Amino acid sequence: MSNVKTFSDLHLLKPLAIAVGQEGYKIPTPIQAQSIPELLKGRDLLGCAQTGTGKTAAFALPVLQNMQKSGGRKRSIRTLVLTPTRELAAQILESFQTYGRGLRMTSTVIFGGVSQKAQERALKRGPDILVATPGRLLDLMNQKLIDLRHVEFFILDEADRMLDMGFIHDVRRVLDAVPEKRQTLFFSATMPPAVAKLSQRMLTDPVRVDVAPKTMTADRIAQTLMFVDKGDKRKLLEMLLMDSSIQRALVFSRTKHGADRITRDLVRADIAAGAIHGNKSQNARTRALAAFKNGKYRVLVATDIAARGIDVDGVSHVINFDLPNESESYVHRIGRTARAGKAGKAISFCAGDEMGYLREIQKLIKRKIPLDCDHSFHSEEASHGMENGAPALSPAQKQSKARAGQARRRKELKEGTARPARGSRQGQKGKARRSQGGAKGGPKGGARATESRGAIASGGKSRRRRRPRRSSGI
Ligand code: AMP
Repeated sequence: MSNVKTFSDLHLLKPLAIAVGQEGYKIPTPIQAQSIPELLKGRDLLGCAQTGTGKTAAFALPVLQNMQKSGGRKRSIRTLVLTPTRELAAQILESFQTYGRGLRMTSTVIFGGVSQKAQERALKRGPDILVATPGRLLDLMNQKLIDLRHVEFFILDEADRMLDMGFIHDVRRVLDAVPEKRQTLFFSATMPPAVAKLSQRMLTDPVRVDVAPKTMTADRIAQTLMFVDKGDKRKLLEMLLMDSSIQRALVFSRTKHGADRITRDLVRADIAAGAIHGNKSQNARTRALAAFKNGKYRVLVATDIAARGIDVDGVSHVINFDLPNESESYVHRIGRTARAGKAGKAISFCAGDEMGYLREIQKLIKRKIPLDCDHSFHSEEASHGMENGAPALSPAQKQSKARAGQARRRKELKEGTARPARGSRQGQKGKARRSQGGAKGGPKGGARATESRGAIASGGKSRRRRRPRRSSGI
């Protein structure tokens, strides 16, 4: 147990203490209280925590302080932060700049999806702190535009997401480029074996800090569940949005295609809304996020990966238009409301074919989400896990059906009896048909349309790259 109760117990340098005060932080969050004293002593850290816990300040404050004291080489990258998504990278940079505004440190961010030129110019000025997504970092390293030989502090953020998004090999390559002698901070919300192995390789005698945001967030968020037929979700959403107490809502869709459709329907119903997902350009995403932050959009429709780490003040409601297929995502999603001590509401729609997802989520959060059937679109059929009058398949059943399909397809290809591959011209017609059913969540449409890259092998001779390195992030 740490005996840190207030920020003054942390003995931060004056400029840092002032910045923290100006941000209005009164007491350190648990991860800050547990990590900062150890990090100030120079120890490595293994942190099991996710965004929303105050994690960024937990690493940025001590790293800034240690940098100030170490007085390392000028005009070279002394701190490297690797993070999986562009939005998260931009937010981390903002935090370093906010907390470090009283220190003479320079910082910059690099990520893919935008022109490299401005980033090159910023790098030439020799920033002390570099925040990066792996794809663009490696591109620039390969072009010899980045020198990591003077890195003293290395922060790996959201290591489990890096793994999910196929970046783990890139992380290893970055690791080969930074000095052995350094302070390393490793963060991950979960610890699958590959992540645990990577952490062992990277860390020396780390202090381990676990912060369970599940209970932290769940306590302050009023969660409700609504059973609804898939075809009625749009009307239910519009009906809910008639309530003016929903000032700023983040609506989650499982697929990019679905996110666009929801946004179109909302705009048609005269509700100011924008979308943010992986098929949008970086500029379009930045614009949509800014419009949501400044109140021009009342609703932002997002997919999981695009929304990860989004930190917008005053999100009054999170609405799960679709339940996520990974239960951890539910916790991430609802954590977008009730930020930094405020209250918030999370409403989840559940159709008959999402019953399996619901079970997984409730198992993870160790509670039943309170049911609200007091609305005009309540569906008894959905509540019994029925889809079109027949029992819906569980996620495991869907996966095994998908696997059987893949095996059949391989066999057909071997025997030369296969239909045209999906990417081919002849295959396009079928693809169009399938993408129409993209939000169905079935083994073909739903799973393939999600953004969980690299997790699901496609059936047949797919032309998709398994490891989407260049499109860093979302
Ligand atoms: P993070 O987990 O780093 O994304 O932080 C989540 C939110 O909590 C951000 O909006 C921070 O500004 C805020 N925050 C961080 N530390 C504190 C603190 N000690 N007290 C109040 N708010 C905080």
